[in-house]
Amino acid sequence: MKRIEHIIGGEHTSGESTRTGAIFNPATGEQTGEVVLASEADVNAVVATAKKAFESWSSVPPAKRAQVMFAFKGLLEKRADDIASAISAEHGKTHPDALGEVARALEVVEFACGIPHLLKGEFSRNVGTAVDACADRHALGVVAGITPFNFPTMVPLWMIPMAISCGNTFILKPSERDPSAANLIVELLHEAGLPKGVCNVLHGDKVAVDGLLHHPDVQAISFVGSTPIAEYVYKTGTANGKRVQALGGAKNHMIVMPDADIDQAVDALMGAGYGAAGERCMAVSVAVPVGEETADRLVKALAPKVAALKIGPSTDSDADMGPVITQAHKDKVLGYIDAGIKEGADLVVDGRGFTLQGYENGYFVGGTLFDRVTPDMSIYKDEIFGPVLSVVRAESYDVAVDLINKHEYGNGTAIFTRDGDAARNFIDRIQVGMVGVNVPIPVPVGYHSFGGWKRSIFGSHGIYGPEAVHFYTKLKTVTMRWPTGIRAGAEFNFPSNG
Ligand code: NAD
Repeated sequence: MKRIEHIIGGEHTSGESTRTGAIFNPATGEQTGEVVLASEADVNAVVATAKKAFESWSSVPPAKRAQVMFAFKGLLEKRADDIASAISAEHGKTHPDALGEVARALEVVEFACGIPHLLKGEFSRNVGTAVDACADRHALGVVAGITPFNFPTMVPLWMIPMAISCGNTFILKPSERDPSAANLIVELLHEAGLPKGVCNVLHGDKVAVDGLLHHPDVQAISFVGSTPIAEYVYKTGTANGKRVQALGGAKNHMIVMPDADIDQAVDALMGAGYGAAGERCMAVSVAVPVGEETADRLVKALAPKVAALKIGPSTDSDADMGPVITQAHKDKVLGYIDAGIKEGADLVVDGRGFTLQGYENGYFVGGTLFDRVTPDMSIYKDEIFGPVLSVVRAESYDVAVDLINKHEYGNGTAIFTRDGDAARNFIDRIQVGMVGVNVPIPVPVGYHSFGGWKRSIFGSHGIYGPEAVHFYTKLKTVTMRWPTGIRAGAEFNFPSNG
């Protein structure tokens, strides 16, 4: 059985940890390893290491930091297959899906390669007579990232490249359910020439998170995970004087207009609803066909495809999706399907009985489709995070928009239509942070920024892209008067630009 340790100052170590967490293969239900869980002493050790490394790393020229990113990009490309295998072994997603995750992570590394340009300051000559002003951005110090299980490579790499390129030092606290990919990434960063101590991995659970949230030498926290924990991290971190961005859960709706190409909409819903077994924060979990006729056509076309989903372990190259992450999560998803039936939704395809020969102990749930779901049902209100798609029939476009705008989450949404006017109106009115027009999973590219609205985010900054430069730096503005001023004698009036 493998044992996953922290990486502190470039060294693999168990530190003072006496507790461990089990790592499972979700396809078989077998334990494949254990991960050390940090103690308070480990938090102190990793923060001290990162603080020390900040002294030199923060003054390394941005162009030299960019060189590390260039080398890292090459290594990620070369090792993409190994990283994808490490992800799939613990997460359960298919190998091509895991490769897709690595490809999206690479975009952020590529963006970070341009850090000298991104950190360029502003200069204004003669803001007053013989007075000049300049502004530039400075690293914060030690920053930490706390990440979820569902993208064990992509989400850490939404944070690390930008944070360290900006001159900060970093502590990653990955999900304890699939911790191996994090170590692989940080090993590759060291191979790329990153000085030891600049990027560290602290494995753990609530003890590690709370230690980071309360440590006075941690300047900022980036969090991605479920909404209750995001809110807790935001409130606790900010109460301790830290800058916090905390991205939470989602319930993403896709409107299907009467003029949409139904085949395209169905393909989009299959990928966005069931890919990665629905364990994506940008998964579409609610389809909103407009009009009864659209709804009938949509459900009729969806049902056979959902029933025919190919489900298997990540090693099966034909599989469309794999298992969910744990037995507890499987039970939770099955519980929601039971609740949906009790609450009166029409169960069109039932995934509860699914089993796979040879993988009877795996955490598989079959693709599930509900029709005639209504906004009062728990399967509509809650994020299920499983392969369960709900169809909510809307009598008009306005009702569909209103439905989305009233939901507590506002991460992603999409509209499928051939009508530019409807699409434009949707873009204007919808209260959601990431919007797709005939694109079901509108995850922004690496040079834009990612972030939802409402209870899908806490804090004022989206993650990666230009927003990351602002989140991971603080502004310094200098006003300079040359060459007279002091030499001409003291001034007692409030300075003006005269
Ligand atoms: P989670 O909230 O359970 O865990 C996220 C992190 O918080 C992990 O590192 C975990 O160790 C830590 N944690 C868990 N419980 C804690 C506690 N009580 N106190 C302190 N720390 C705690 O989330 P998850 O199940 O790993 O991931 C799935 C969730 O993440 C879903 O809700 C999904 O929508 C969300 N997510 C959101 C985005 C986004 O960008 N908005 C992206 C990916 C995932």
